[in-house]
Amino acid sequence: PVRVRMAPSPTGSPHVGLVRTALFNWAFARHHGGTFVFRIEDTDKERSTQESYDAILDLMRWLGLDWDEGPEVGGPYAPYRQSERSDLYTDALAKLAASSYTYDCFCTTEEVDARRKASGSKVMGYDGFCRDLSAEQRAAFEAEGRKPVVRFRMPEGSITWNDLVRGEVTFETQFVPDFALCRANGDPLYTLVNPVDDALMRITHVLRGEDLLSSTPRQIPLHAALIELGIGTVMPEFGHLPFVMGEGNKKLSKRDPEAHALAYRDQGFLPEGLLNYLALLGWAIAADRDVFSMEEMVAAFEIGDVNPNPARFDIKKADAINSAQMRLLSVEDVTDRALPFLKAAGVVSDPVSDADAQLLEQAMPLVAERINKLTEAVDMLGFLFVDEASFAVDEADAEKLLNDDGRAVVARARGKLEGLHEWSTAAIQDALQAELVDAMGLKPRNAFGPVRVAVTGRRISPPLFESMELLGRERSLGRLQSALG
Ligand code: GLU
Repeated sequence: PVRVRMAPSPTGSPHVGLVRTALFNWAFARHHGGTFVFRIEDTDKERSTQESYDAILDLMRWLGLDWDEGPEVGGPYAPYRQSERSDLYTDALAKLAASSYTYDCFCTTEEVDARRKASGSKVMGYDGFCRDLSAEQRAAFEAEGRKPVVRFRMPEGSITWNDLVRGEVTFETQFVPDFALCRANGDPLYTLVNPVDDALMRITHVLRGEDLLSSTPRQIPLHAALIELGIGTVMPEFGHLPFVMGEGNKKLSKRDPEAHALAYRDQGFLPEGLLNYLALLGWAIAADRDVFSMEEMVAAFEIGDVNPNPARFDIKKADAINSAQMRLLSVEDVTDRALPFLKAAGVVSDPVSDADAQLLEQAMPLVAERINKLTEAVDMLGFLFVDEASFAVDEADAEKLLNDDGRAVVARARGKLEGLHEWSTAAIQDALQAELVDAMGLKPRNAFGPVRVAVTGRRISPPLFESMELLGRERSLGRLQSALG
């Protein structure tokens, strides 16, 4: 049975690369009817924070990437936070040492560097000096008060695996030095805990970012040792997902504002919009198709179809995909999802009053088709819900459209509408068309632009005549009057 995992380190604000990795693991698990494990790699006490942990969980829940085992849901290999699993690492370390897969190393970095300089070696990292210490050498180091780190004894030769994304990958182990598994104070390191947990949790496929490619030649022999010791049972298969590149063809980094995954939620992206876009970073459902649902992705997802070449992060494309996903939602669905934003911005009351709910139900059909992000509903609808005393026209828009010419148009519109018997979309449209376009000879843009700014406060609004009907006669005429100064 397929068992995959995502194993984020809770350091800092979660990155879009983390979401892409989570998504591909999730889609792989769901496609194969397997298990998606969520493990928190928080062994680095200095860098891990509760805030980051909470943010990752919030993010996963918002995205709807449900996990079968992990924080809050538990599972047969609990706990799923490495900070709560120290005994398991101590035990693994003891078993590895007992079978000489590891050795104690007393060298300081300075000593290793000095030996490298003296020998002229180009190989970075540890030189194996302490591999076969005699009892006397060991005693001498201990007498100096040195505390050892534990290193894994890398095998000779080369390590090859058939990467699920990249095909055959080979590393010569002469360039993969013996590596430390824990600090001198005994704290286990990522190099140990990540494979130990993958082994204990029976992970069958490790799908992760290409930045971790170089840890794989270390992990394969360590996994082999763990299997030998009965800690693990299966050698996982590995697949390394392509780099995500940002501006200037540099790796997207935490410094890039578009890297922060939760910012998309706060900007009013749909979770399915962000997931759909991130799926395209290395994968495609078909050559001529960009927009799809997560069910479709699950049905179609094959890890072998992932493209190993770096993927370029394109925020415009992300916006376009989100917008396409918005178009697939019903008005009711857009309303429900926009509601928290409308409440937070104070556009509607919280809890929503009956009057606000009724107006919203009438207004949302006008905006649901026009917004690309949920936050745009706030900008578009504010004018309808605001009380007249606080209504204000956007200054830049007023400057452009409510100049002398614009005000002349607004005056004519007001005069005509005052005499209107029936206040309906059709009647308003006919009256303004007759007065401004037919009688004044204005182009529609010049005719309706000033009226729109006067009534809605902005150049971008829901359709004008419908908006005026909803706003009502009195408020519409009042705003036209105010625009005249
Ligand atoms: N905790 C590691 C990271 O966040 C993930 C390691 C892995 O997926 O193997 O980089």
